[in-house]
Amino acid sequence: MNFSSLSASSTSSHPLALYGWDEGWEAEFAPYAEQGLLPGRVVRVDRGLCDVITPVGTVRADTEFVVPRDPMKVVCTGDWVAVDPEGSDPLYVRTLLPRRTAFVRSTSSKRSEGQVLATNIDYVVICVSLAVELDLGRIERFLALAMSGSGGEAPLHTSALSWESGAQPVVVLSKADLVPDPVTLAHLVQDVETTAPGVPVLTVSALHGDGLDVLVATVGGGTSVLLGQSGAGKSTLANALLGEDVMDVQAARDVDGKGRHTTTTRNLLALPGGGVLIDTPGLRGVGLWDAETGVGQVFSEIEELARECRFHDCAHESEPGCAVLAGVENGDLPFRRLESYRKLIRENQWITAKTDARVRAELRRDWKRKGAEGKAAMEAKRGRWR
Ligand code: GDP
Ligand code: ZN
Repeated sequence: MNFSSLSASSTSSHPLALYGWDEGWEAEFAPYAEQGLLPGRVVRVDRGLCDVITPVGTVRADTEFVVPRDPMKVVCTGDWVAVDPEGSDPLYVRTLLPRRTAFVRSTSSKRSEGQVLATNIDYVVICVSLAVELDLGRIERFLALAMSGSGGEAPLHTSALSWESGAQPVVVLSKADLVPDPVTLAHLVQDVETTAPGVPVLTVSALHGDGLDVLVATVGGGTSVLLGQSGAGKSTLANALLGEDVMDVQAARDVDGKGRHTTTTRNLLALPGGGVLIDTPGLRGVGLWDAETGVGQVFSEIEELARECRFHDCAHESEPGCAVLAGVENGDLPFRRLESYRKLIRENQWITAKTDARVRAELRRDWKRKGAEGKAAMEAKRGRWR
């Protein structure tokens, strides 16, 4: 197959268009097309080998040539790569195209290095069950997590006020059939909207299919991941989005009798309504958020107020001239938001402290100092009776 003639035509008719191929990737790939390499998107990685969807089908390729020093640059589900042309044996991934975004989790090991869970994500869909009472604090933490992914070479969030620089979060209130009263449902949506300014909040019943069309229209143009607590309805939603027919179709496409194409489970799937869904075991486990970078965006209104505080290291606890406390006082800022903000900061310090020895040492000094100060204050109160 003459691939370059294909790529010269419109990208929407490209065999990889279903998987997110666009003009940007085409431009990135151009030099490799000249070398006769094939473009592809990684659907699964398994011990140095990966499954790559290419214009000629799914191939299994060795990642030996692109093993980096930096664990963040290890080939990952969602990556766009250049692979050897069909018929090469063995078949190698020759290069990794620069990532637009990466969803990274900091590891719990001693080294504070991250682990890449998925790449080139456009939407982080946060699935929240309406079967249980809404926990707005938890939604905030998931939003912070959604915003904490880092973009290719540079951090994504240069602006604290826009979601545009990285993956866009979308909140899906699932199992909406369990809240039959439309007024109640509207109130719940409103609560979440206040918690997540600027973030689309949708209601979906995967059971009845209500709201699926809106979700498909929202994420249809890009690559999504589903986050949420266990039991939130992610698998049901994924199945509803995928449709069983599609799974069968994709399995059939893999078969060509050459033994190189694979039929193993995929972690990256094209949605029939448009768009791509990435679902890796690593992403499934993501529950706790663990990056500070997302906090500013989730609480942008607090960060904005904080700029007006008299002291620029203001902790917004009891400092004079604190604009955040003033905001609570005059009703601009709900107190609950400030509480969540504080909780998130505290929690994050703790998680960071678990993984970062330097921060841990600093915190320990801080706690010791505070402890000593507290003790001194107590003793002063008691009148230093010793
Ligand atoms: P996951 O752990 O996030 O993947 O959640 P699951 O998709 O496994 O769903 C957890 C439970 O919620 C299952 O018992 C589902 O049948 C149920 N569930 C999922 N979606 C819906 C829905 O739209 N309506 C109702 N009533 N139940 C749902
Ligand atoms: Zn302040």
